[in-house]
Amino acid sequence: MGRVVGVDLGATHTRAAIISGDGRIEKVIVARTPAQETDPSRLTGFLMGMITDLAGTDLRGTFTGIGLSVAGPVDTRQGILVNPPNMAFRDVPLTGPISQELGLPVRMVNDCHAGVLGEMYYGSGGGREDVVYITISTGIGGGVVSGGHLLLGRQGNAAEIGHLHVDSTYDLPCGCGHTGHWEGYASGRYLPSFFSAWCRYHARPHWGPDRAEDIFTSAREGDDDVLRFINDVARISARGISDVIVAYDPDLIILDGAVIRSNADLLLVPIIESIDRYLPLPGIVLTALSGNAPLLGAAVIARGYRTGYGDLGSPVSS
Ligand SMILES: [Zn+2]
Repeated sequence: MGRVVGVDLGATHTRAAIISGDGRIEKVIVARTPAQETDPSRLTGFLMGMITDLAGTDLRGTFTGIGLSVAGPVDTRQGILVNPPNMAFRDVPLTGPISQELGLPVRMVNDCHAGVLGEMYYGSGGGREDVVYITISTGIGGGVVSGGHLLLGRQGNAAEIGHLHVDSTYDLPCGCGHTGHWEGYASGRYLPSFFSAWCRYHARPHWGPDRAEDIFTSAREGDDDVLRFINDVARISARGISDVIVAYDPDLIILDGAVIRSNADLLLVPIIESIDRYLPLPGIVLTALSGNAPLLGAAVIARGYRTGYGDLGSPVSS
């Protein structure tokens, strides 16, 4: 298998890497995503600029293809980024323009689908058929491999599990416009507002942390209120994971994302203790890919990973 270019497009940062046939990241560059722009050509121009900065302008002959892991929602069939909630762009066609300009096949999936593919090929999912990848980061999302196949859904947004309804007590708003969703409580972006609502509800003093990291630091310093709050966060995440288990019946769940990777010491045990035992508990592990699962999954897609959709994106015929 040849070398490919993998790109992980996030709402704040984008990483592009040259990845060898055996999944080794040979070279990686990072840039700030122009998320406040509205002209779609600025985003495609930005991505093409990153790819040529990384790999040069003469890509044909050197690389097999380009894979994009995109912070969704997406239309994977058409290769379009659709109305991303954390960027100002509306719909941005990505695979067609980039493929045309750079002369290589370009394929894309959403970042959590890329994450589960990265884990299946290069991480803890190897040799398994039923795996769920869950990221708890700025947002919360999932990717599912069931019976050995990636579940894509109608347009490529299956397993948007951050929008599972997990709570009615606090009834907190989510960025999607609804309330009670997992992401609106336990993601890095919403933990501070959940803490504020929690303090109000329990009539506890609120000292106003505006970053999730500060909350976890206070927990490690032994603040009793914060420790009770962290247990509530774990209970909420366990509610979400319980729903994932009954929906997909996985034999392994892989947890990724900065919030859980950095705070597993506080969260992992209470989460596992609070998961429903209706179905047998699957294996639950932290990723071993150090945040690179989506980038490695982009490499899997770049090599032409076959899905129920057939070929993803718009490969160039030579
Ligand atoms: Zn939501």
